[in-house]
Amino acid sequence: MIIRQETCVGCGRCQPYCPTNAIHFQDLKSTVDQEVCYECGCCLRAQICPVEAIEESPHVYEYPRALRKYFSDPNATHALTGIQGRGTEESKTNDVTHRVGPGEVGVAIEVGRPNIGMDLKNIQKITRALARAGIHEIEPNNPFLDMIQDPLTGDLKPELIGERVLSAIIEIQVKRDRLRHILRTIKGVAREVDSVFCLDVYTMLEPGLTVPPEVLEVIESEGFSWRPNAKINMGLGRAWERKNS
Ligand code: SF4
Ligand code: SF4
Repeated sequence: MIIRQETCVGCGRCQPYCPTNAIHFQDLKSTVDQEVCYECGCCLRAQICPVEAIEESPHVYEYPRALRKYFSDPNATHALTGIQGRGTEESKTNDVTHRVGPGEVGVAIEVGRPNIGMDLKNIQKITRALARAGIHEIEPNNPFLDMIQDPLTGDLKPELIGERVLSAIIEIQVKRDRLRHILRTIKGVAREVDSVFCLDVYTMLEPGLTVPPEVLEVIESEGFSWRPNAKINMGLGRAWERKNS
């Protein structure tokens, strides 16, 4: 985002709207720190500027900066997936798509949040730890996969290392017997990550709408607390893919 200096009257009204404190005074005008701004668009969407000095940079969709936009602005359409937000439907439509089928489990690592955000160097700590542990099953529809330069090492593309985003999701899809190994690996690297993250584990429900007990056993015995969260297809959608059934 940019602020046109010739138009800004330095009222400061825009500054509290930035979730990452990228806007500050300089010579009695507001200016955007381009290193800190992750292009979430909050300051512009708030329509708070009395003189319309805030505007999107003409370079915001240039690679690699465009990734800031795709992973931070919920209104931006991700160029790789054609959907809004961080570019993945992850578990939300699983009961229709059956992306994670019977006998499988999905794991989503959601890194970063408003106010904190994260630089991609941090997320590389996780991708490297996963690669070292032999975990290479990143969900093929996850746009994050395109950021990885070398799946064997987990290295991200070098031009991305200086970029920062509001949050990103790494999704993994495996057979259920791999869950324990994955949870241990994530727990092991968690202390090195300089941001917040939460962990989603998702499965299809068993008959009777129960969570598979072997999945719960692994989660609890590895020391994680869990909170159930369900998205149920009420018949409005049709399953278009059936795997392992
Ligand atoms: S686009 Fe978002 S991060 Fe950038 S200055 Fe505006 S509110 Fe702050
Ligand atoms: S709200 Fe507009 S005029 Fe006021 S400081 Fe921000 S950019 Fe400048």
